[in-house]
Amino acid sequence: MIEVIFTIDYEIYGNGEGSLKEHVYNPARLLQKMFNQAGVKLVFFVEAAELEMIEKAKTDLTIGSVKKQIKDLYLEGHEIALHLHPQWYNGNYKNGIWQLDNLEYNLCVLSEKRITQIIDKAINYLRSVLSDSTYTPFSFRAGNWLFQPTQPTAKILFSRGIKIDSSVFKGGLQRQNNLDYRPAVKNGYFWKFREDINKPANSGEIIEVPIYSEMVPPWRMVTRKRVGLQTTARENLLNKINRLLNSARPLQPLKLDFCRMTISELKAMMINIIRDDQKEPRTYKPIVAIGHTKDLVDFDTVKNFLSYLKENNIKITTLKDAHNTILS
Ligand SMILES: [Zn+2]
Repeated sequence: MIEVIFTIDYEIYGNGEGSLKEHVYNPARLLQKMFNQAGVKLVFFVEAAELEMIEKAKTDLTIGSVKKQIKDLYLEGHEIALHLHPQWYNGNYKNGIWQLDNLEYNLCVLSEKRITQIIDKAINYLRSVLSDSTYTPFSFRAGNWLFQPTQPTAKILFSRGIKIDSSVFKGGLQRQNNLDYRPAVKNGYFWKFREDINKPANSGEIIEVPIYSEMVPPWRMVTRKRVGLQTTARENLLNKINRLLNSARPLQPLKLDFCRMTISELKAMMINIIRDDQKEPRTYKPIVAIGHTKDLVDFDTVKNFLSYLKENNIKITTLKDAHNTILS
C-alpha cells in the first residue's frame, strides 16, 4: 500500500534575505486553499528559530499574519511539525542584513546542553504561536537535512515527544557538512534508528520516514525548472569544490519535490513506486514528498499531481497518521 505525505518546509531558507509575505505567507495561503478544497492534509515543517528571531528583532511586519496562519493550519487539522535552523538563534540583524551564526549551523554537533536548550526554545515558541501549552511536535526535520552525528540529538528529541524524523534522503552526500546518507540506500521505506540514522535498529525510539528520492544520472538533475529555482547564495571556494565533488558522482539522489519537479518527473517517479507496490503490495510505503514555501510558484503542477494521485487511488496522509499505520 502506498500513501503520499506532502511535507513543506515553512521558512525563508538560505541567509535570511527576502520577505515573509512573498516567501512564506502567500505561497502557504494558496497551498492551504488547494489542499482544503481537495479535503487532504499537509505536514508543515515550521522553522521555529527564524520566526522567533524575526519577531524579536521586529524585522518583518508579516510575522503577525504568519503566526495566525500557522494557528489556522493547526486548527484545520494540518500537521504542524518542527524544523530547525539553529544558526538563527545567535543571529544579528545589522544594516538590513541578518548575520547568522555558522558555528551553530548543524544542531547535531553542538553540546548536549545546547541542543536541549535550542529544541526546548523552539518547541516553546511553537506553543506560544499555537496558544496551546500542551502542543508537542510529532515529527522533526533537521535544517539542511543534517541529522549526523545522530546522538545525542535523537534521544533529546524523543524525550520531548518526537516520534518521526524525516531528514534523510537516501544517497545524500554533503562533504562540506559531513552528511552522508549513502548507506541508507539499501534501507526500506522506513526504519527505526538509534546510534546512526543510516542503520536500522529494532531497539530505536524514533522512526525514520525518509524524503523519497531516486538515484539518477547527473543529466536528470538539470531541468529548466530546477535550475531556475536554484538559490544564488554566495559561497566560499571550499564549499564550491565540495559541491562539485558531490555532483561528480555517476548517480545522484533526486528528491521527490513537488515544487521543483515538473509534472512528468513527478509522475515518472510515482510510476516506479507503483510498480514496486505491485510486486510487494503488502509492504506499507509511506512516500514523503518535499517542498519549500520559497520554491512554490507553480501551483498548476501541484494541482495536477493531486489529481494524478486521486486517479491512481493513492491516499494522502500525514506523518502522524502514517505512524499509526506503521505501528499497526
Ligand atoms: Zn530549512
